[in-house]
Amino acid sequence: MIRGSTELVAIVGSPIAQVKSPENFNTWFAQHDKDLAMIAIDLADTALDDFLATLRGWRNLRGCVVTVPYKQVLAPLLDGVSARAAALRSVNVIRREADGRLLGDNVDGDGFLNAARLHGFIGHGQRALVVGSGGVGSAIAYALGEAGVSELTIADVSSERAEALAAILRDAFPRLAVHTDYPSLAGFDLVVNASPVGMGGSGELPLPVAQLETLRAGTLVADVVTSPEITPLLDFAQCMGCTVQTGAEMAFAQLGNLGAFMGVTPQQI
Ligand code: NAD
Repeated sequence: MIRGSTELVAIVGSPIAQVKSPENFNTWFAQHDKDLAMIAIDLADTALDDFLATLRGWRNLRGCVVTVPYKQVLAPLLDGVSARAAALRSVNVIRREADGRLLGDNVDGDGFLNAARLHGFIGHGQRALVVGSGGVGSAIAYALGEAGVSELTIADVSSERAEALAAILRDAFPRLAVHTDYPSLAGFDLVVNASPVGMGGSGELPLPVAQLETLRAGTLVADVVTSPEITPLLDFAQCMGCTVQTGAEMAFAQLGNLGAFMGVTPQQI
């Protein structure tokens, strides 16, 4: 129950009804007897400046998760951001300091890696392909760079976007080999779809079947798409004998990172 004493966190985006964070956080708060609650805010873009001013003055609000379409637009408006959020020009979580300053980070990539590690993916010295170089693909690619992969390939239907992300990664990780093309999927330890392809009932695959037939059984194949849980890509990969990771696993695995940044949960939950 929300009381006068309850401290709040929020999630902001538009639309907002589909997000799972309020259920996940409020369940954790209730199970751990915390006087904390998460509210969901469907915000019009015309209200962004007023929203930030309100956040700065909102004394019983500890922080705010940021989702589509505000991750990029809010990043430059905060009072400080982490090095990775600065490089990605995108935030998915904001902490309100006691003096009202708003600090941002992007933990999408951490969530992805937490989930991948549960499937045995080490990162260090491994080779990965990220398909889709938008908000989530960039965050995953950056986290893979931080985790010490030896080779990282970026694919996108927009070669401009892929090259722009490759440039950010080469700048941030000078020893990392970054590619934007690849002969087959056989050399990868990890293949991740970070594009929306496969969402809903579309049945679409993010890569051509002929390419997917080159997957090795030892490769971890992951999708960021949360609905359906087993996307056409994951279905195909399972048939090829690959281990698969769902978008829901990634979303769940970053709860602790989001909560810890806002100061409302431990890192491991
Ligand atoms: P975005 O629009 O910023 O980026 C998508 C990118 O995919 C674009 O660069 C686009 O050009 C590229 N793309 C589209 N079709 C492609 C194809 N066939 N091959 C290669 N690239 C292609 O979107 P985003 O914010 O990065 O979100 C991507 C997906 O991630 C959405 O479906 C979103 O719901 C999901 N998501 C999942 C989680 C999670 O925790 N599981 C978190 C956030 C977002």
